Parts: sequence; structure tokens; C-alpha cells
Amino acid sequence: MRILVFNAGSSSLKFGLFDTGNGAERHLLKAGYDRFRDGGCDLRWSTDDGRGGQGRVPLADLGAAIAAVPGFLAEQGFDWIDAVGHRIAHGGAGFAAPAPLDDTTLPEIEALTPLAPLHNPANLAAVALARATWPEVPQYGVFDTSFHLTNPAFATTYAVPEVWRQAGLRRFGFHGTSHKYVALRAAEVIGQPLDRLQVISCHLGNGASVCAINRGRSMDSSMGLTPLEGLVMGTRSGDVDPGAFGYLSRELGLSIPQIEAALYNDSGLKALTGSPDMRDAEDRAAAGDAAAQLAIEIYAYRARKYIGAYAAAMGGVDAIVFTGGIGENSASMRRRICDGLEFMGVTLDHDRNARVDLADRAAPELQAWGARVRVIVTETAEQLQIAREVAQAMAQPVRVALTVPVAVSARHVHLSQAHVEALFGPGATLTAEFPLRQPGNFGAHQKVTVEGPKGRFENVRVLGPTRGRTQIEVSRTDTFVLGIDAPVRLSGDLDGTPRVRLVGPAGQVETDGLIIAARHIHMHPDDAARWGLTDGQEVEVEVAGTGRGITFAHTVVRIQKDAFTEMHIDTDEANAGGIVAGADGALVGPGLCR
Ligand code: AMP
Repeated sequence: MRILVFNAGSSSLKFGLFDTGNGAERHLLKAGYDRFRDGGCDLRWSTDDGRGGQGRVPLADLGAAIAAVPGFLAEQGFDWIDAVGHRIAHGGAGFAAPAPLDDTTLPEIEALTPLAPLHNPANLAAVALARATWPEVPQYGVFDTSFHLTNPAFATTYAVPEVWRQAGLRRFGFHGTSHKYVALRAAEVIGQPLDRLQVISCHLGNGASVCAINRGRSMDSSMGLTPLEGLVMGTRSGDVDPGAFGYLSRELGLSIPQIEAALYNDSGLKALTGSPDMRDAEDRAAAGDAAAQLAIEIYAYRARKYIGAYAAAMGGVDAIVFTGGIGENSASMRRRICDGLEFMGVTLDHDRNARVDLADRAAPELQAWGARVRVIVTETAEQLQIAREVAQAMAQPVRVALTVPVAVSARHVHLSQAHVEALFGPGATLTAEFPLRQPGNFGAHQKVTVEGPKGRFENVRVLGPTRGRTQIEVSRTDTFVLGIDAPVRLSGDLDGTPRVRLVGPAGQVETDGLIIAARHIHMHPDDAARWGLTDGQEVEVEVAGTGRGITFAHTVVRIQKDAFTEMHIDTDEANAGGIVAGADGALVGPGLCR
């Protein structure tokens, strides 16, 4: 299978052509356009059979460059492709795997632009141009964030107000394709499956991040909501106290966009040394420039802190892998970062570190003889990894399709008006304390005690408005506390359900209606129509975004006028999957193609 891979930035386009057929992998062509100015740009290319070239070509901008790619490929003897893979920086919580880029997914990806304002628009511009150029060829997005969607909630959750978290504020992590590739390459060199290893991958390029890969799965990484958090980078600050926003606004009168732009574009090595390039910093430091010397120390110290932290987070480390322009090329930076980590078994062989040759995808080991932790350096091959993932995605039937937000329902009670009055007094009505996402529904001020023969729950929230029949929704664990067996039922299906006692401030009632709610998706008719689903249909929902990753079978679609499309599970189900608020579920299963 011949796959063309695009990695489009705002001012450059790198692309590669891969042949991934029959277990073999060939990087047929490597090329890039950059330095667009005066109606032209630089083109640099090489093929795996030894041809190549470089020079100015009359292509004024990225659009012209992409439009020129088919002709350029044909000139080099490549006159067909099977698929195009695009590197996309931010896939949010919804894109856990490569996704076909089409009229459904593209608006979802566009909606993520605020999370990666520098990167996603450039990626998407290339997608639009490539779709126009090859309308018949399938195009896939491979997301830098997907690899990190296995991070546990305690690594992805910021300790900020709930309403911010509900608005999407969480840690994601980037460079996932690179971290995954180099970790797999390190495992190959070590000769053990990645899922038996604890690896810390350091991608030190213009952008930079460290990733803890615990037995094959990303556990944490130094970038967060955006690619700003973490290490010192070429022009990005990495970690900064968020208090800086208030301080700079008060002291320097800077606006939020001004501060943000400076953190992205005028910080990092550029701010500390005047140049974003580590080579300049190293040259200036060697010539006695104190600012450049300090910048190098800050850079190494920050990286070393993250390595120590991630060894602690995983409870061990078998290998540290360096990649990216700095990780691959700067022996002195590798040494500075590793020096001081001897206490945890990291000792470099300085000769090996100084004589690294990465030709032919070599991944040399740099640790001293007998050192407990391996230190490996290798070129990253994000384009190859993208080609691999596109090939895998095309070989599989489309599985991951539609995403829905997942809400976790704690135990609660719906009351009939007669029971409201029996529990809270004659003439009482439910009063709203907070709105629920399903239109017209609310959490009431009123709470009741639910009592069974074995135990009781106090302060159980009543949800409004009132219903024709009282219904008490608990988890399976709750039924053991109460000492009453309850059936799994859809809301409203209450005939033959067990009786339970409800106690309010003005009285008590014995009522049937105790159920464990069958998991379900409230679905707006427009979404159902768009996705081809019918009321009552059962689907599988994969929640990979947080926690342990779990797939829920037999999830019932409930189509309701004006519904806010959302899946509801109970606390047992959420705990089983380690699912927290803000998770997304992907509907999977036969027939659920976009
Ligand atoms: P990347 O984004 O992976 O291409 O990495 C770019 C960064 O690698 C640039 O900031 C350079 O500073 C750095 N780099 C490339 N070659 C060297 C080298 N020989 N020594 C130090 N840094 C280098």
C-alpha cells in the first residue's frame, strides 16, 4: 500500500511517500517545501534509490506547493497513491485513533482549534488542499494527542473549578506519534515487548516534551492542555506559574492575547538567548555568553526534573530515549540531562555519547557498561509511524465512529407529585437548585433518605420535574447496602420493581420503582438521523479517553425531542472504567460507519 504522509506547518510542508505492503516498510520519497518568499520556495527531496535534489522552485505558498505535489510525484515516477495520512496536532478527547477525514470529522477537528491555535489550522489547511487535489483518495488524520488518551485521570486533571473542567480544561499531551515510534524502536533494540518496559521518551526538538510510557501505554507527558506546558522549547516557555497572567496584566498592562502570544512565540531559548536554535545557544555559551550558559542549564535542569518525576510516577525506568533535533544531535545536552541521575541507575558512556551515528534508523545505546537504565538515541520517524497507522486503520473495518459525552449519574430519585407532598408536606413542590443538561430537568433542593432492610442512604438528591410515577435509581453496589435486589431497567419501565422506603422531613412512603438504570444515550433526533440510529437500538460504546479504557455493550439509544446527546452511566460503571466527568465515548460496532 502506498501512503503519502503530510506534516504541514504554518510556513512549511514536509511530506513522505511510504510503501507499507507485505510486512515491509519502504520510505520511497522524503521531501519538503519551506522558506516561502518572493513568489518561490525551497524544495529538498531524496528517494530511497539514491536520487535527490534541492533548490528554489516557483511556488508562492503552501496551497501552490500542495497542488504541485501530484506533478512532482509523477516526475519522480510515483504516479499513484492509495491514501493520504495527515499529522494533526490536537484531536481532543474524541480522537483516540486515526480517523478518516470527511465532512463529519473535519468540523469536529476544526472545533478543537482553540486548543492548538498555531498547529491545527495549518494542518487543516493542508487537509482541505489535499482533499481537493485527490478527491478519490481516502485521507486520514493521525493525532499527536491520541497516544496520551490512556493517561489516567490523576495525570490529566487540573485542580481547577469544576465548571472549567466541564468546559474541557484538562491535560492532553502532544508528540504522541513521535513518543510512540521511539518507544517501539527502543523496545526493538532492547529485544523485549514494549508492554514489559518502562520507558521515558524525550522528544527534544523545536517543540519538546517528555513522556512516561508505562508498559506500552502513555501514562503522562509534559505538555498539557496545549503544547505550551512542560519543557523549555525553541520559542515556547514551558512551565510557568499561571499567576503570571494576573501579575503581568497588573504590572505591565498586558492583555491575555499578548501574554499568550509571547509564551508561544517569544519565550523559550529565543527569550533567554536571542535565538530559538540550540546550536546558537551552545556556540554562544562556549564563547562565554552568560545568558546562553544559563539557558542551557535551565533547559537541562527542566528535562532532568521531568525524567526524575516520571521515573517516580512509573515506579521505575528501564530506558530513557532521546530524539528530536536536540536529542539526536547534541551530545552535550544529553550529557547535561543525564549527569546527576546516577542515583537512579543512569550512567552514560561518554565515548558512546560523543560518537552517535543514526544512519539507517540506528538506535545506539549510550549507557555505561553495567548501568541499570539504558539510554538510547534514535531519530524520530513520525511520518513512518503515521503511514503505519493509516495502513492499519485501512486494513480494519471502520470501528471507532461517533463520539458522545459521558455523564456519571449518582444515586437519585424522581418523585410523583403525590409523593412530593407525602414527603415534604401538603402543597409542596420541587424547587430547582441547578439545571441538568437534559432540557427542562433540574437537581432539586429537596433530598430524601432511601431505606432498605439492611441499610440506608441519606441526602439522596431528588431530580425534577415530577413524574407520573416515583423511580429510585441506584447502582448495583447500592442494592447491597440497602439489602434489596433491583433489576436493570430503562427509566420508566417500573412494573414489578421492588419496594423501598423513602423518608422526607414531613413523612415517609413505601413505594416500588427501585431500579439500576440501564445505561443509555439520550439522543437528539438530528444526531440519530445523522448517524443512522433508531430509538431503542443497542450500541457498544468505547470509553478510552480516561481511566482504564472500557467498552460498554448493550447501551440503549433513547431518541427524544430536544435531548442533549449524552450517555448516562452509573457510579459502578464509571468506577469500573476509571471514568471521570468530561470523558467521551465512541460508538463502535458493525454498521456504525461515518
Ligand atoms: P527539530 O524540531 O526536531 O527539527 O529540532 C530542531 C532543533 O534541533 C533546533 O532548535 C536546533 O537547535 C536543534 N539542533 C539541530 N542540530 C543540532 C546540533 N547539532 N546540536 C544542537 N542542537 C541541534
